[in-house]
Amino acid sequence: MKSPTRLAELIAALRVLPGIGPKSAQRMAYHLLQRDRQGAVRLGHAIEQALTQLNHCELCNDFSETPICPLCSDSARDTSQLAVIEMPTDLLMMEQTQSYHGLYFVLMGRLSPLDGIGPREIHLDRLIQRASNGTVQEVILATNFTMEGEATAHAITELLRARGIAVSRIARGVPVGGELEHIDSGTLAQALTDRRRCDTN
Ligand code: ZN
Repeated sequence: MKSPTRLAELIAALRVLPGIGPKSAQRMAYHLLQRDRQGAVRLGHAIEQALTQLNHCELCNDFSETPICPLCSDSARDTSQLAVIEMPTDLLMMEQTQSYHGLYFVLMGRLSPLDGIGPREIHLDRLIQRASNGTVQEVILATNFTMEGEATAHAITELLRARGIAVSRIARGVPVGGELEHIDSGTLAQALTDRRRCDTN
């Protein structure tokens, strides 16, 4: 039996979502059609609105409804610091710490030559331009501590140092509340390497 074309198209469309195979796409399609038609309308509308209204902030590259996002327009932010992160979710995490008040540059990815993601795809030219604006005093690399995240941090360091821009990398180490006997030796070794003096002043 041949399934109706529109249903087949809906199932195929749902498969663009990461991690969604044919079975899950089918379940989602039946759920939307049978159990939550209102939700389906809302979903369709939200996707359409996001696609037409959201672009990238000209400064930080995060998603924004305005050419310059609210965070970049906030005069209370410390414009001398620029944190480089991989994804918008990392920005939210950084903000949750409430201990960083500088600005951001969101790469929207990481260097991954095997997947065809090079310096151009993560907008390194724009990052360098931004870091060389004369206001930024320090670029803080907060890419992930994965192989690709490290390679990305390394490449950015080389590019910025060549232009005389100060670069730092967030420290790796023992997690808050962590006990030494429960962490892996690689992390402990890194925490030792990145140790700092306990000077009070
Ligand atoms: Zn911005």
